[in-house]
Amino acid sequence: NLQDKLERAFKVLKGQGNITEINVAETMKEIRKALLDADVNYKTAKTFTDQVKQKALGQNVINSISPGQLLTKIMNDELTALMGGTTSELDLSKNPTIILIAGLNGAGKTTFSGKLANYLKEKKGKKPLLVAGDVYRPAAIDQLEVLGNQVGVPVYTDRTSTDPIAIAKAGVEEGKKNGNNVIIIDTAGRLAVDEPLMVEISAVKEATQPHEILFVVDAMTGQDAVNTAKAFNDRLDFTGVVLTKLDGDTRGGAALSIKSVVNKPIKFIGTGEKMDALDVFHPDRMASRILGMGDVVSLVERAQQQFDEKQAAELQKKIRKNQFDFNDFRAQIQQIKKMGNMKDLVGMIPGASKVLKDVEIDDNAFKPIEAIIDSMTPKERENPDIIDQRRRMRIAKGSGTSIEEVNKLIKQFMDMRKVMKQMSNPGMMAKMMRNMP
Ligand code: GDP
Ligand code: MG
Repeated sequence: NLQDKLERAFKVLKGQGNITEINVAETMKEIRKALLDADVNYKTAKTFTDQVKQKALGQNVINSISPGQLLTKIMNDELTALMGGTTSELDLSKNPTIILIAGLNGAGKTTFSGKLANYLKEKKGKKPLLVAGDVYRPAAIDQLEVLGNQVGVPVYTDRTSTDPIAIAKAGVEEGKKNGNNVIIIDTAGRLAVDEPLMVEISAVKEATQPHEILFVVDAMTGQDAVNTAKAFNDRLDFTGVVLTKLDGDTRGGAALSIKSVVNKPIKFIGTGEKMDALDVFHPDRMASRILGMGDVVSLVERAQQQFDEKQAAELQKKIRKNQFDFNDFRAQIQQIKKMGNMKDLVGMIPGASKVLKDVEIDDNAFKPIEAIIDSMTPKERENPDIIDQRRRMRIAKGSGTSIEEVNKLIKQFMDMRKVMKQMSNPGMMAKMMRNMP
């Protein structure tokens, strides 16, 4: 699923959390693919990756604890913006507020009607009335009555009528008479978008003049959900979207596509069959869900906060001059340790625990590295190029490690320094970005 794919894509970025692991271009390509697979349409996916690229270009890579994490945060912010930025509330200012529910068969309209009645009653102190407007299946009326009963909200029905327009009108009148301040009209759906359905629901809209028209769509239907949304919006000009069945094998990609294709806010998500399985839609939470990144954002924020700006500027100067040395390296390790318990930090990166399951991650992980650096002379730390074979042997002995460990650390350090220098060169960064998909 999407989560797994993104996890794989992020693996390249996250790596061991240092700059040498980063491969931005490859990651972007993977992310684009993953989004497409998750039913985000091509245009949306492209706009998204382009925007992330753009934002990443303007960022000072060295200032963040790792470019991968910074990029992750940019992605989360962009996704959130794409899905509307902030929560979009129902307009409940009218008395009564009339809410029309529309969508295909099986999308979850009747279930949502019950949930919404429950939500408005319990959370908003409203006095709702449900109107059973699905005349084609007697069971649909029973279903709404059962749900109304469950949540303690009255249901208007007329089993003698087969005219949904008349029922809707009569339901609104009934609600006004009884002092209901919200009237929720459940309607019939079809297996696919068809003309009679559209004519009928348009007529119900005309007759009841609803303040909110909520389009209910099954999030599991993927790309079809986007097409259906467009068809309904063209005819009804609805005010909001309800994404149902997000409790299953999440295809959160639909949320992204629908928002960008019809440009209407997603207002609620359904997360189960029970009457309380309804959530107000939060773009930022959905973004995290789509990215599957758990607490990465707060991790990045914590890291950025902890990173001393002045030190970063100095560090960058040194990197540019290829003067990054083992003293700086040691300072970086201290920086990482300052951020908190390593296990906590790694635990905040989704998938990392899976990837690193055989690696013992705690503060002790840095012990041999620190020991090796401590066993170097000040000259060696400042100028690692002079560390020849004999010096390495001495360092291994002094630090209680092996020559292999010393060799490995020095090699990693040299590689890292090389990549850091390249990354700190703005021209190089631009070139990398241009080569992205
Ligand atoms: P309608 O034809 O649009 O009125 O759809 P229904 O409300 O009758 O729902 C169709 C099926 O989907 C029912 O079995 C519901 O229990 C189920 N359903 C609705 N919403 C959700 C949801 O958010 N999660 C899950 N898992 N099932 C849902
Ligand atoms: Mg129904």
